[in-house]
Amino acid sequence: MSPATLAVAAGRPPREQGAPVNPPVVLSSTYVSTGVPGPERLYARYDTETWQPLEEAVGQLEAADLPALVFASGMAAIDAVLHLATPGTAIVAPRHAYLATLTAAHELTAREGGVVREVDIADTDAVIAALAPADGPAASLLWIETPTNPMLEVADVPALAAAARAAGVLTVVDNTFATPLAQRPLTQGADVVVHSVTKYLAGHSDLVMGAAVTSDPALRGRIHARRTTGGAIAGPWETWLALRGLRTLALRVERSQASALELARRLAGHPLVAEVQHPGLPTHPQHERAAALMDGFGSIITLRPRGGAEAADALTRAVHLWVPATSLGGVESSLERRRRLPAEAPTVPADLLRLSVGIEDVEDLWADLDQALRATA
Ligand SMILES: *Cc1c(COP(=O)(O)O)cnc(C)c1O
Repeated sequence: MSPATLAVAAGRPPREQGAPVNPPVVLSSTYVSTGVPGPERLYARYDTETWQPLEEAVGQLEAADLPALVFASGMAAIDAVLHLATPGTAIVAPRHAYLATLTAAHELTAREGGVVREVDIADTDAVIAALAPADGPAASLLWIETPTNPMLEVADVPALAAAARAAGVLTVVDNTFATPLAQRPLTQGADVVVHSVTKYLAGHSDLVMGAAVTSDPALRGRIHARRTTGGAIAGPWETWLALRGLRTLALRVERSQASALELARRLAGHPLVAEVQHPGLPTHPQHERAAALMDGFGSIITLRPRGGAEAADALTRAVHLWVPATSLGGVESSLERRRRLPAEAPTVPADLLRLSVGIEDVEDLWADLDQALRATA
């Protein structure tokens, strides 16, 4: 079945007469356990029946053979998966990966030995060369984010995953930006997929949650063990909200992707815009790769207005409908100038605005952007 159908149908209770259509929320920290061998559940930090439907749905959406593992946040999932790296080796990662991911990778390797090798993830040859260079430790983990945050570089996942596998390196893909509607990295050779469920999967900017997905029982076991000891588990109410949000994933993403492409095209012709990037534009450096590997181009646009960082900041104050805020993937459209954050990579232009396109009417979104660009010119 297509991901659009799975988002609605997966993780439902068994169809028995009188059964609820939606899974219940169970509020219990512990389970009856009498010493007879094999209680299915023991304690709510290990596994709960409230996580299970969401874990099944996310696993099926990512075309995995096993259910996902949900976490308290995207970063909790990412931290657990980074721990798959062998101490003393290299983690190869995009230089424009999500900031906290890079911080977590650097902290982990600083503690356990090893290095983080930051690469241009769109440059396939350079990434492959970084897996086993002559002058440093070989990699045990290849971290891919595609499209990257916020530069929207698109990676050749099948080529990178094949090279990594041949070199004995695990491939992880952060699929937050694309969503499983646009790409399913496990079907392209990746070993593990991670998500910030906070963004498109939940979709309403009302909770923070993460997930890790793999078809490999041994890897799932290691990630699960890390969740159990790390303890960064999702609460039952957030889990219920996330599954409720997931049911409309296809409608939201189809709408926001279509609007993003339309807005990107119009912005590219706007006299007050210096540069626009979106993987759906033919001018994007990896447009053809994105067209070949993805079903849709995502809902993020980057925009550099004429007038530099000051004009970009002024634009975030001049919009009425777009919300000036960090994060992305909600039903509401939002925008932010990334370099206002001191930790953002210096290779991200100071005047770059990241736009997350939501599900409002595209003409209203356009009118607001256009008036804000004119107001700040
Ligand atoms: C937001 C985000 C994360 C972190 O997820 P949280 O849910 O905020 O912990 C990781 N990767 C990407 C690409 C993100 O956008």
